Amino acid sequence: MIVVMAANNAEAFSSVFRPVHSATAFEETMERILRAIALGVVKQGERLPGERELAAMLRVSRATLHEALGALREVGIVESRRGRTGGSFVARMPVLAELVDPDLPVTAERLEDVFTFRRVVEVGAAEAAARRDLDEEAVSALRERLAASLSAPIPEYRAADSRLHLAFAEATGSQHLVATVAEAELALHKLLDATPVIASKLRHSNLQHQAIVDAIVVGNPLAARTAVEVHLDATAALVRGFYGPDPVSARTAAVASMHRSGRTGSRRSGERAASTGTTTTAKAGR
Ligand SMILES: [Zn+2]
Repeated sequence: MIVVMAANNAEAFSSVFRPVHSATAFEETMERILRAIALGVVKQGERLPGERELAAMLRVSRATLHEALGALREVGIVESRRGRTGGSFVARMPVLAELVDPDLPVTAERLEDVFTFRRVVEVGAAEAAARRDLDEEAVSALRERLAASLSAPIPEYRAADSRLHLAFAEATGSQHLVATVAEAELALHKLLDATPVIASKLRHSNLQHQAIVDAIVVGNPLAARTAVEVHLDATAALVRGFYGPDPVSARTAAVASMHRSGRTGSRRSGERAASTGTTTTAKAGR
């Protein structure tokens, strides 16, 4: 069955197939297509836009697009069909770990490490903040960060979210806690970068944030603890779901498949990750 691009889908297409940066054109082209599939802009069984059209949208060469589509064929996500009704079709949904930056080693242990660390420091920070007798300035600082996150447009939401979480720590008056919460937020957002932003998740987060701020402001430590636990556990569940039950093996399979076909960009990334053991990527929009 062939489903062509509907006119009302054009906005979604131009959003996910936005131009890529030339230095990492192959990886970014793959990432855009994977993301389009993961987000359901092009569903399983549907046809991707034609190569000429897609290359123009992404502003990459046809050769780069061929290479990216070839890599996706190898991992079984895309299949090509010949003839007048042919083209590149979505054969299966990607495991989200395949969207992960190759520089960022993600294992189930790493996920749980980040979630455990974050839960301890941020739940503790909110409880400590709720135990303090906050002055008017501290209360309005919390309210302002909350309002900023509630009104943040989707591309800026994650940054506003992090600033709000930092405000919980700032309300404790402990610079050590601020630094530690910042570290926990950074670790989480490196993982979140590989997951799509989901509007319904943001609506839930907004309600959870309001409950946290209310509990801190009225000085209820137990309510503050519970509200942060609920919020962090919700995010952790979502991230676990996106990465799948065995993130590292899914990622290894994807990368190995690219290596077999001589994707030097990915191989370089793999070597860098192996030699440093850390990520060197700094993306905007956290
Ligand atoms: Zn949050």
